[in-house]
Amino acid sequence: MRSALFRCSALMAALQSPAMEKDVDINKVVRQHLDMEQFFTGFAVKGETDSPEQPEQDNSASAAETIRELEKIAEEIDRCRKCDLGSSRTNSVPGEGSLRASIMFVGEAPGADEDAQGRPFVGRAGQLLDKIIKACGLKRNEVWIGNILKCRPPENRDPRPEEIISCLLYIQRQIELIKPEIIVALGAHAARTLLNTNKAIGEIRGQFLEYYAGIGKPPMKLLATFHPAYLLRNYSQENRRLVWEDMKKVLAELGLPVPE
Ligand code: URA
Repeated sequence: MRSALFRCSALMAALQSPAMEKDVDINKVVRQHLDMEQFFTGFAVKGETDSPEQPEQDNSASAAETIRELEKIAEEIDRCRKCDLGSSRTNSVPGEGSLRASIMFVGEAPGADEDAQGRPFVGRAGQLLDKIIKACGLKRNEVWIGNILKCRPPENRDPRPEEIISCLLYIQRQIELIKPEIIVALGAHAARTLLNTNKAIGEIRGQFLEYYAGIGKPPMKLLATFHPAYLLRNYSQENRRLVWEDMKKVLAELGLPVPE
């Protein structure tokens, strides 16, 4: 598993992100950030502290085996050249988190920050995801976070069908190893891929649907919600409310405290 969480002020990181260098109204970014901070922080369970840097420890033999398997997948991903993205990216981004995660967040593909660090959701969208996780009363190291594609598409373009097909087995194997109680698919690409559907995200978000886990295995619960990057681009109280309602459903289903 990747180590060393790089944590710094979300605002500073947002302002320093390479993606932010051109054509950006910094005042708008700052306003948006503060507003977003207030919205999701408002729901945070009291007494929560910031995440410690490492995923939660589990020293059992089966945990050691799971770690070995996950590392093996990460090495395969790093060597993978099944599509061209393996040659154009800087770092592969296999995913990270707790082996005992009851929630597995699955996004679309690494962006520039993730490509630079080899870690999922560490850019602006990641900072928003961190806030959502915290507002749920959880820590980043208590969940698992990954993507459908493990390598960054150039210029953050949409994943191509052949790239998704080449990469799909990696996330399927990771899901099988982590065995989350609920998969939260972030955005249309993750939701459509994991549900094997072409439906629009607006049609499928906010409901518990079934992820087909393989022959003879029970399906897993999957809830799709808007991608944090979509939230940042389509920044409205209504969209934030919908994501928050989705996450409250996830917490209720898990029997966890649901913040007001
Ligand atoms: N967007 C994604 O879908 N995944 C990341 O890791 C970062 C941004």
